[in-house]
Order: sequence, then C-alpha cells, then structure tokens
Amino acid sequence: MFHVYENWRAEHHKATVHLDSCGHCNYGHGARGGTRVDNGRWHGPFDSLMNAQAAVPGITPAIHRCVALPPNTAAVAARAAR
Ligand SMILES: [Zn+2]
Repeated sequence: MFHVYENWRAEHHKATVHLDSCGHCNYGHGARGGTRVDNGRWHGPFDSLMNAQAAVPGITPAIHRCVALPPNTAAVAARAAR
C-alpha cells in the first residue's frame, strides 16, 4: 500500500509518496512513533501509486526512494496504470 505525506512546512508545500513499510512512513504513523501534526499529515493508505499521487489536490507528490527502488514496485505501478 502507498501513503502520501503532505508537508506544509517544506518549501513550496510538497508531498511525497511512500510505501507503508518505509521507515519514514511506518504504515502512516510517521517515523519514530509519530509525525508532528503541525508539520503536515499523512494520507492513505492507497492501493495504487496513481491513487496516491492524486491524494493532494493541486500537488503532484514526489516519489520517495522506498517506492522507486524495490523491483516489485515497478510491477505494482504498471498494474495500477492499466
Ligand atoms: Zn519512503
């Protein structure tokens, strides 16, 4: 599953897509037991990369390396794109 972290403290208000097993994501809870709610929020889970990238209106989320690197993820994204 994919999660999106929307960060409104970052430059230009950005968002990033993560896999739920990523250490930054931690299944939507954030790293180290929680994400400060004043910095941003998690969206998801989403069953496809495409849905995750549509999570924040007006923003195209970046792809974190946890999504880009695992070889099985490319297949997941390809299935989602069909
Ligand atoms: Zn990640």
